[in-house]
This record gives sequence, C-alpha cells and structure tokens, in this order.
Amino acid sequence: MDIQKLLRENIRQLHPYSCARDEFKGEASVYLDANENPYNAPYNRYPDPLQWEVKEQISKVKNVPAENIFLGNGSDEPIDLLFRAFCEPRLDNVVAIEPTYGMYKVSAAINDVEYRKVLLDENFQFSAEKLLAATNLYTKIIWLCSPNNPTGNSLDRNEIVKLLNSFEGIVVLDEAYIDFATDGSFSEQLSKYPNLVILQTFSKAWGNAAIRLGMAFASLEIIAILNKIKYPYNINILTQKHILTSLKNANQVKTWVKTILTERTVLIDSLQKLSLVQHVYATDANFVLVKVANANATYQYLVDKSIIVRNRNTVTLCNDCLRITVGTPEENKTLLEELKKL
Ligand SMILES: *Cc1c(COP(=O)(O)O)cnc(C)c1O
Repeated sequence: MDIQKLLRENIRQLHPYSCARDEFKGEASVYLDANENPYNAPYNRYPDPLQWEVKEQISKVKNVPAENIFLGNGSDEPIDLLFRAFCEPRLDNVVAIEPTYGMYKVSAAINDVEYRKVLLDENFQFSAEKLLAATNLYTKIIWLCSPNNPTGNSLDRNEIVKLLNSFEGIVVLDEAYIDFATDGSFSEQLSKYPNLVILQTFSKAWGNAAIRLGMAFASLEIIAILNKIKYPYNINILTQKHILTSLKNANQVKTWVKTILTERTVLIDSLQKLSLVQHVYATDANFVLVKVANANATYQYLVDKSIIVRNRNTVTLCNDCLRITVGTPEENKTLLEELKKL
C-alpha cells in the first residue's frame, strides 16, 4: 500500500509553512523569534504546534503512541484535511455508508469532491463487497462510522476488516461514540493497516464539546501528511491546558459513561411502553433512534414544551425517526412525561 501514491500532487510537492516554534525546539531563556509581545504571560506565547505534552497524556489513556496521534479543532478538522490531502477536486471521489454523519458529505461538497453513498441494509449494517463495488480507480477514501450516527449501532467488525484488507485507499473509521460501545476501538489494529484512520473526539463521552478537540489515530505516514497541511497553531493553549486537566480525570469519564448507559436502558424501556413509539433501534451510543407515528408532529410538540430532540425524518432509512440523546435522569424523565401525555 503506497500512501504517497494516493496523495494529491500539490500536497506531495508542498513545502509547508515553517513557524518559529518549528525551527527552534527546546528550552531557552529569551524568546525573540516570533514577534510575540513579551508581556501578558502565558497567553503571549504561541502554543506548541504539535501539542506533544497533550499527545503524551492522550497516549496513556488511549493506548496509542503519541507519534500516531493527530489533534484537530474537533473531528471536523481531520475530516476536512483528509479531503484536502487525498482528493483532487472534480476528479477523485469518496464512498460512504448511508445514512451516516452529515459532515463527510458537507466536507466533500466544500472540496468539490464526488460523494458516493451506499445504502445500509435494514439492520443498518454494510457489506464490504457493496462498498467496494461503488469504488473506482479514483476512489481515495471510504468513510465508516461505528457506532454510526444517527442509527446508533456498531458496524460489523468482520466487514470492516474485509474492507481494510481489500480497499487500496484510505479507510476512515469514525469512533466518536466508541466509549459507549460494547466493542472496543479498532486502535489496537492500527499497526496492521497503514491506510486506516480512526477518528475519536473529546466532544461526547469526555464532555468537552465546547473546547473543540478531535483526534485522528493513523500510521506515521498519514499523520505526517495531516501535520503538513494543518494550520500551524490549530490547537490553542486554552484547549491544550483544559484537556490536560480533563485527562487527569479519566475516572470521572468512566462514571459519566456508566450513568449514561444505565439511563439509556431506562429510557429505552420507557420509550418502548409508549403507544406513539413504533420502534426503538438497538444502540451502542449515547443516543437512541426512535421511530414514532409522526416525527414532525412529535418534534414540534416537544419544541413547544421546550424539549429539543433531533428530527431525522428526512434522513434516508430514518423516516419518522427522532434521535434522542441520553440526558440526566431528570431530563429524561421530563421528556418521557411529556411524551406520555400524547
Ligand atoms: C459528534 C460527532 C463527532 C464529533 O465532532 P467534533 O467536531 O469532534 O465535535 C464526530 N463524528 C461523529 C459521527 C459525531 O456524531
């Protein structure tokens, strides 16, 4: 597998911007190299462009070597960078499961790259064979999401492995909800697959959506490509400092996840008893997809009660479906009480 061959020519030839913090690494007593203001410490200094201190700590929690980690301004950043690195606008294409997270398609459109959708089956599972059949010589990336959004289920691991073994391009596996799943992360398989990119985020289980920090785990070759084209200081110092504090409280995250999973069971059981609910789909995430009699009407009814869920009625295979995030016990109770009145 030749990753360089997949790369756009302009990116392969690119001489990346070299910032002051790239040229001199290490400790010094006087910094006069970056036109910073000498006052207002610590915010006057540009942050580490490669965020090594943060990556060392993430490495311990995630069991992925620091060198195999890329950090972005949310997962949205590596999603966009992967398009920019590998997909020649109006020439290359990507293949994705449908339905899935909307950002892959938006990013494809922004980058003027053809987005090919392959419908999941009635159990929201995919077949590697079908995805491969949708590819051609210009397919650079296949997008997978497991547990998938908005369906909530984990994708079949055997099919993921099949795809990794047979597709000669990049396979992105978005694991934004992996902390809520029964199956473990594919990160243990990273060294086996030089074309695998795993996306994870601090926005969900870690409760840090506001600070915008996403991770990509991949081979050194792919990480080097992402680093080459990112904004030099893409992760600001407030985010870096905050996540270092958060990472010390990994036990807190475990407790949150446990509570959310317990509450998910309560929510599912209660939803199944409601007459307006036609089906509650199996979930491995911190949300449930629910088929109701009339999603638009139910959505509006809840809005009027000041309760916001996600109306997925117009999403393929999800008509009359609402996506409901598991909240606190009180929030879930409020939701259920209003739904019971219907
Ligand atoms: C929420 C979510 C993310 C997280 O995106 P961030 O930019 O990191 O907040 C990524 N992928 C999926 C599928 C999601 O649902």
